[in-house]
Amino acid sequence: MDEPAQRAVRAVVPGRKAQPAPGLLVDRPFPGPEVDFVDPWLMLDHFGPERIAPGESGGLNPHPHRGFETVTLILEGAMEHQDSSGGRGLIEPGGVQWMTAASGIVHAEYRAPDLVRRGGTLHGVQLWLNLPRARKMDPPGYQDLPATRIPVVESPGARVRVIAGRHAGVQGPARSFTPVTLLHVMLDAGGSAALRLPEGHNALVYVVEGAAQVQARDVPARAMALFDGRGEAVALGAGQPAQLLVLAGEPIGEPVVSWGPFVMNSREEILQARDDYLAGRMGSLDTAV
Ligand code: MN
Repeated sequence: MDEPAQRAVRAVVPGRKAQPAPGLLVDRPFPGPEVDFVDPWLMLDHFGPERIAPGESGGLNPHPHRGFETVTLILEGAMEHQDSSGGRGLIEPGGVQWMTAASGIVHAEYRAPDLVRRGGTLHGVQLWLNLPRARKMDPPGYQDLPATRIPVVESPGARVRVIAGRHAGVQGPARSFTPVTLLHVMLDAGGSAALRLPEGHNALVYVVEGAAQVQARDVPARAMALFDGRGEAVALGAGQPAQLLVLAGEPIGEPVVSWGPFVMNSREEILQARDDYLAGRMGSLDTAV
């Protein structure tokens, strides 16, 4: 049997400090000066691990989104979300909230009440995933994916949680509008994992914790390895315990025009989004931390 072609690492890009809201500091490998987006993935924000003292509330007060999906993965601690459609829920460790903002939603994202009461650590990642033009004005929706719904592929020294797409014949539970892969990989010291990412899909590996080798290239914590589009096979390794995210996706290939919380195909659509939000056509939510 032919061996699949190897994927080459095109660049290693560090996360840059960014502050998407007052009091919220993240590491952001993209968008940034080196890489604008990795079509269809628009953003990777890594927050924490942050120590939270008892009584220290925080988070993002109500704000809108239109034209894409937000994917929030909680690694430690918990977040609560509330939205203009009456939705409300908790994202707990290992869990993922996959929110399709599409035509528009107003939501708030807070430290969970229990975390605020007792204090603790909050650690997670939020990804923005673009929608194709034909889906940007669909009704909004959610997929709540607690850790128990996410399958784990175990091999010696490695555990791969399959959130979206396939790995080793296992399909992840998340539904997406275009083909994507999202894997959460945990490697023990000396552990390794072999992946196959679909030919032609854009792809990257982000190192959440520890340090890793991606195709034998060293990638430090809070940096990403960005791949060429050709080839399928990717080898991951770690000399120390490491936690990684693997993102891949079929490029949508449409114009991306973004302004704050809106990602559309044209400037006119951005202005329309702003008007619709200000006129209350994305709903409203009355809450604040
Ligand atoms: Mn948001």
